[in-house]
Amino acid sequence: MADRAKFQAIKGVRDILPPESALWNRVEQTGREVFGTFGFAEIRAPILEPTELFARSIGLDTDVVSKEMYTFVDRPDRLKEPKKLGEYGEFIEHVKKLFQNGEIPNTRYNEFAMASLEEAWEKYKQLRPRDKLTEKDWESLDLLILSKEAMKLGPDMSMRPEATASVCRAYIEHGMQVQPGNVKLYYMGPMFRRERPQKGRYRQFYQIGAEVLGTSDAPGIDAEVIEMLMTLFERLKLKGAILNINSIGDKNCRPAYVEKLRAELQKVREQLGPDSQRRIETNPLRVLDSKIESEQAIIAKLPRVAENLCDECRAHYAEVKRQMDLRGIQYQENWRLVRGLDYYMRTTFEITAPGLGSQNAVCGGGRYDGLVELLGGPAATKGIGFAIGTDRLILSLQEAGEGATQTGLDVYLAWFGAAAQTAAIGLARRLRGAGFVVELPAVEMKFGKSLGLADRLKARHAVIIGDDELTAGVVTVKRLADGTQQKLNKHQLFDYLRPRA
Ligand code: ATP
Ligand code: MG
Repeated sequence: MADRAKFQAIKGVRDILPPESALWNRVEQTGREVFGTFGFAEIRAPILEPTELFARSIGLDTDVVSKEMYTFVDRPDRLKEPKKLGEYGEFIEHVKKLFQNGEIPNTRYNEFAMASLEEAWEKYKQLRPRDKLTEKDWESLDLLILSKEAMKLGPDMSMRPEATASVCRAYIEHGMQVQPGNVKLYYMGPMFRRERPQKGRYRQFYQIGAEVLGTSDAPGIDAEVIEMLMTLFERLKLKGAILNINSIGDKNCRPAYVEKLRAELQKVREQLGPDSQRRIETNPLRVLDSKIESEQAIIAKLPRVAENLCDECRAHYAEVKRQMDLRGIQYQENWRLVRGLDYYMRTTFEITAPGLGSQNAVCGGGRYDGLVELLGGPAATKGIGFAIGTDRLILSLQEAGEGATQTGLDVYLAWFGAAAQTAAIGLARRLRGAGFVVELPAVEMKFGKSLGLADRLKARHAVIIGDDELTAGVVTVKRLADGTQQKLNKHQLFDYLRPRA
């Protein structure tokens, strides 16, 4: 008994329980409604994708891809693993076949592992007799087993750390570019990143996001996507949300800006912390993101991207702002707003909300015009989207008291005696059919115990059926808030329970 381990959810993931789950449902439902009115439809993409999809889109140098992804090597459907050393020859032949038809990835890595596996197998075959193995012989046996273990025998896949790449993959895979107008999709679901868990930061977290894909990069699209987002927040009564926007240029002007930034950063290198120093080489834009106190004054003097945009990007940004004004959207310009993922360009935005401590970003988004092409889709496809961190949105709503809705049990249906149970089952069905929330005890209880449970479940009414009620063709209804009680027939009961308009 003492040894029986208690299971717990693994680090960084959690259960979302009632009544909190009711708030999640309300948030998601409101999202569906608002996005629907903007002409967006839902896409449900898989959680597992080829690792390469994220490596290529998000970028190898990002934290997300370099250390936060949950990645594993799958197995091909039919591969018989060798159980005895003598079976390795057969195994090698089989693997070679699967190599040829692409079921096992034909990578340099696997080629190398295969070569060493074959070499070890050749050595093994020369070993005779079995009982006089030298140290060296044992080494070659080890090599045989290790080379096999080292092979990546199946496709490399990852649990999605975000969903934009999946949406673009689906857009390409299903040839959605032939659809009229822009393709407007939204999604909601879990994402996975191996981060240090803390308030508002989990390893399994949730996002509600939307993407617009098509041939147009009109600034009106950027503004409308943001309008949709702000409409959702407003509908949810999220107070104190602040919208930050920026433009980070495109492939024409950003490289020159990044070089300029890098040159300036080199001059102040010694005054920066190790993370920022590293980023001078890997991704200078990310230095602007630094929250380190001592770096702030230095960063404030760095060249600003807005002053280094090419004419097209400058015009695009100006028009995005005008389009936002047309929609009455309040925003703050924040020249230091860069996004963590490589694919963003031009418009970037982020929304912060109160009550979240340092994890105060509830939504991030931006334009990613080259991404579809980078993933092998039609050239000149444009894209823009956002992802709301649902966990943080919920936390902020809870902090502001917009939290849990009541469980709302309308009727606790207490019955006493077999005949009353039959009547109660029928009545419960009719009440539920009319939309009331009904609790029907599965077994008979003593009167006091049954009504006590009704109280503890916070039912609004107890409806009581016993022999007396059956004979009289009525039920006893007790309003639990004040204990008032009356006898009603079925018709009167429905009228009585129905909330008065
Ligand atoms: P942060 O800077 O807070 O790490 P991010 O830039 O990594 O955010 P994005 O990849 O843009 O975030 O994802 C969009 C939103 O998803 C964020 O604004 C945040 O609300 C949420 N989010 C990101 N990572 C997590 C996480 N580990 N746990 C909970 N929410 C997250
Ligand atoms: Mg992050």
